[in-house]
Amino acid sequence: MEEELRGKIEKLQELVDESRRIVFFGGAGVSTESGIPDFRSVDGLYHMKYDYPPETILSHTFFMRKPEEFYRFYQDKMLCLDAEPNAAHKKLAEMEEKGKLTAVITQNIDGLHQKAGSRHVLELHGSVLRNYCMKCGKFFDAPYIKAAAGKPVCDACGGLIKPDVVLYEEGLDQSILSESVRCIAEADLLIIGGTSLAVYPAAGLIDYFNGENIVVINKSPTPRDKFAKLLIPGKIGEVLGAITV
Ligand code: NAD
Repeated sequence: MEEELRGKIEKLQELVDESRRIVFFGGAGVSTESGIPDFRSVDGLYHMKYDYPPETILSHTFFMRKPEEFYRFYQDKMLCLDAEPNAAHKKLAEMEEKGKLTAVITQNIDGLHQKAGSRHVLELHGSVLRNYCMKCGKFFDAPYIKAAAGKPVCDACGGLIKPDVVLYEEGLDQSILSESVRCIAEADLLIIGGTSLAVYPAAGLIDYFNGENIVVINKSPTPRDKFAKLLIPGKIGEVLGAITV
């Protein structure tokens, strides 16, 4: 590890040591080291060849008009059911376990924070692990969706099944938003990582932080880098994995 990065990790260690109400705010970059592509990195989904950009496919209108095409992309790229938590997910779970972290607020829909053992996870954009029939409300797990040929339909009533994820054009759950605002407002250290901070309203939540210490751990620049007390342009699994709690 290069000298400069090591120095920044030492500074992060000091901030973690002196904090009791850490909140982590993250996105797709947290799971790239688990093998799930993000949207905006060079090897992310925006740079792959599809008939439509991901934002179009993952919109409510597209889902309702072309469910087969939506599911072709979704089953292939969003349902990574064999992925395992990486060092970042695991360290955040350990921070909560040791009573230092109050919440993980995530834009991810992959369930990896919970798989790593985190309990207070606020999923702003829902989860691929929950799916419901749009007609009768019956619940279906992710393997049922992954195994479906074409669009998955309800085995009870034949209705179309929709994942419990927030598609573009859809609103966020108000209770999750308010709980996120509360946790961020009460935090003494806000660690932001693996997110381009380009998706709203999620990215706007960090404005509710009242403290001094914002840490940004991201491979590429974000619009909020200038507000960071500590900016670590590295891989989040490597950085958080090096912290002791
Ligand atoms: P994004 O793709 O816009 O940005 C990811 C950011 O993470 C980039 O700035 C990139 O430089 C950085 N990054 C990538 N790997 C990293 C690593 N190992 N360490 C540190 N930084 C890394 O992602 P976003 O901001 O979360 O917004 C995209 C939207 O797409 C979100 O709403 C999210 O719900 C959804 N999404 C989720 C998943 C998932 O659940 N794993 C995957 C793709 C997209």
